[in-house]
Parts: sequence; structure tokens; C-alpha cells
Amino acid sequence: MLIDIGVNLTHPSFDKDRDAVVAAAEKAGVCPLIVTGTNVEESRKARDYAVSLQGKCFATAGVHPHNANVCGADTIPWLRELSQFPEVVAIGECGLDYNRDYSPRPVQRKWFEKQILLACELNMPLFLHERDAFDDFTTILEQNCPKTVKKVAHCFTGGEKELFKYLEMDCYIGITGWICDERRGLHIQPLLKHIPADRLLLETDAPFLTPRSLPHARNRNMPANLVHIAETASAALGKDFAKLSIETFQNSCEFFGIDCK
Ligand SMILES: [Zn+2]
Repeated sequence: MLIDIGVNLTHPSFDKDRDAVVAAAEKAGVCPLIVTGTNVEESRKARDYAVSLQGKCFATAGVHPHNANVCGADTIPWLRELSQFPEVVAIGECGLDYNRDYSPRPVQRKWFEKQILLACELNMPLFLHERDAFDDFTTILEQNCPKTVKKVAHCFTGGEKELFKYLEMDCYIGITGWICDERRGLHIQPLLKHIPADRLLLETDAPFLTPRSLPHARNRNMPANLVHIAETASAALGKDFAKLSIETFQNSCEFFGIDCK
């Protein structure tokens, strides 16, 4: 079995067949799914869905940097309340995105810091997003987040320098179908061997980032496609698929504090 640590299952593209998507993932050997919360409302929906599917889904609670400009005085109290549910297993996704700049950078930084502090207060893991903001991102993390708080650099797309810095900071590394993208992601494959076996996590980021090496690469991405990502990683590492599955499954359970048998 595999655990997809990043599925945007509250996305409208899953409105018509969400249960079937989860069932197809389970049939393919991908269960449970960690549903990504991207703002307070979506985090609530993710929580509700996880509660309804006991054990097959868990949720994160957080505000994506794109949505930082709609944060207010209520945001952190709401996230704190959501985090009390056993189905909510991480704070995030949060971080910085200077690629799109949908929210002003100082506002992104402010709400990133506040969510780090919340994770520290609750001793919960952080689900982190960084794009084109590496220096500010690592500085803010180092200044606000002790090494003892677990964190994953989700959807890692950087190079060697970024990877080694994250590992030095004790980050887990989230690998997506980006590694199947012959235009912009193949540089990651040779880097995989530098990620310690107990630091690697796998994710689809569905419905986004459909692996381009799949025959239906234009379709929305699905959590069942995690198998293809794991196969690609296994081939790149020269590591047995079953061994990689067991390792990443255990890493996911440990990271999110999920009791997996
Ligand atoms: Zn992200």
C-alpha cells in the first residue's frame, strides 16, 4: 500500500465522483489519502470528508500562500479548532509562493510565520509549499521553527542546493509526478538517491500535476496515479518497488502520527 500525502480532494473537479476517486485509489493500493487544506473553508471541508470516511482519509488544516490575503484575526483560532479533530494530522499547506504572487509577499510571510507558530504550539507537523521563494522561506523556517517540529517540503522541484538545505533542516521531501515530466522534472530523478530512505514521501497533488509519462496526461490527476509515481521513483533509485512502498508508507505514518497497521 501507498499513502498519498497530498490530494486536493475538495477541488471542484472531484465534486461529481469524490467517493469513486477514493475507491479507485484504494483499489490501486493507495490508502489512506491526506487531503490538503488550502484555506479555512477548504480545510473544514477536508476535515468533514475525512471524518465521513474514517481511516481512509485524513486532512491538513492551513492557508496556502495564494490565499494569505484573505486571512484575518479569526484564521488562526479557526485552524486551532480544526486541529483538535483526530482526522486533522498537519498544519498547512502553508509557505511562500513568489511564482504567482497572488498575495503580496509581506502578507504571505506574515501568515506563514503565524502558521509555523501554531504548529509549534500544537506540536503538529507542517505541510509546506515553496515556489521561487527559497531564501525567504528557509530563513523564516529557521527563525521560527525548531528542528523537533516535523515538516515536509511538499512537491519538491528544486535542485541539489535546495535539497541539501532542506535535509540539513530535517525536512521530509515530498515527491510528485513532477519527476515524470520530461520538460522540467527529470533533474529530480538523480537527486532521489540523496534523500535518506526515512525522509522520502510520495504525493500526487491531484487534480494537478498529472504525470506526463502517463498515456492520459491531459486528464485531471487522480490519487490512484501515485502508483505510477512510485514506480518511476523506484526505477530512478534502482530500488525494489515493494521496499520503496513499505518505506514511504512507514514514513507517512510516522510523519502524520497515523496509526497504520
Ligand atoms: Zn503546494
